[in-house]
Amino acid sequence: MGSVGAKEIPELLNAEGRRIDGRRLDELRPISMKVGPLTRADGSAFVEWGENKVMAAVYGPREVHPRHLMQTSKAIIQCRYNMAAFSVDERKRPGQDRRSQEISKVITEAFESVVFTEEFPKTSIDIYIEVLQANAGTRCAGLVAASLALADAGIPMADLVASVAVGKVAGRIALDLKKEEDNFGEADMPLALVPQSGRLVLIQMEGHMNRDEIREALDLGTKGCREIYERMRQALRTRYEVPAGAPAPEAMA
Ligand code: UDP
Repeated sequence: MGSVGAKEIPELLNAEGRRIDGRRLDELRPISMKVGPLTRADGSAFVEWGENKVMAAVYGPREVHPRHLMQTSKAIIQCRYNMAAFSVDERKRPGQDRRSQEISKVITEAFESVVFTEEFPKTSIDIYIEVLQANAGTRCAGLVAASLALADAGIPMADLVASVAVGKVAGRIALDLKKEEDNFGEADMPLALVPQSGRLVLIQMEGHMNRDEIREALDLGTKGCREIYERMRQALRTRYEVPAGAPAPEAMA
């Protein structure tokens, strides 16, 4: 442990190349995804990722509110990312602040590039992301949950959006930062990828990395997104697979 002023800085990387929670630099935190836990939403998903717990609910396509936002040629996507007051160590003031507005905006833009909005003119697709417990990477967990919830709602999309943050910790490029790494590391770069096209639909960065480090971070982050993508597809298969021996759908009519 080192210290800056009164703050203790934990050892972020040990001599064996292990991180604060024992992970290697290219390892994700444990992740579990459940599709469809909410019965009143058109689509939903719950994601537990490290110590993050995030619920997403999707409604629509439905009537636009407020009505002046309606577009005659396509659906609009409205996303609200919200962090519960009890989700963080120091109670957060309830309600939307600048950070949650920014996150809602970048997530909306990420989905605008995959959802076939022109199929549903004059409607709204509403995405609610509720962070119940936070430990860094909540916008990525929110994107993953919302992507699964959109698929669960049957919204036509070019592909799922997968997301993970990558950053720089103790001088090395690391995948999927947790809170201490986000707080005491040198950089944090959340990414979102449309895996089939290889297109990045979200990239943000806080901190400092040089050109080579950014390149390495993009490679590692892209690999991480592809790993997440496989987990997302598995979660959807688990939700929709027909158990062996179950009657065929036509036999149930
Ligand atoms: N955080 C907090 N209070 C806040 C906002 C954030 O304690 O008001 C914590 C929370 O654990 C969050 C982390 O700081 O996950 C990193 O926040 P950041 O803005 O980088 O977004 P995130 O990494 O969650 O997408």
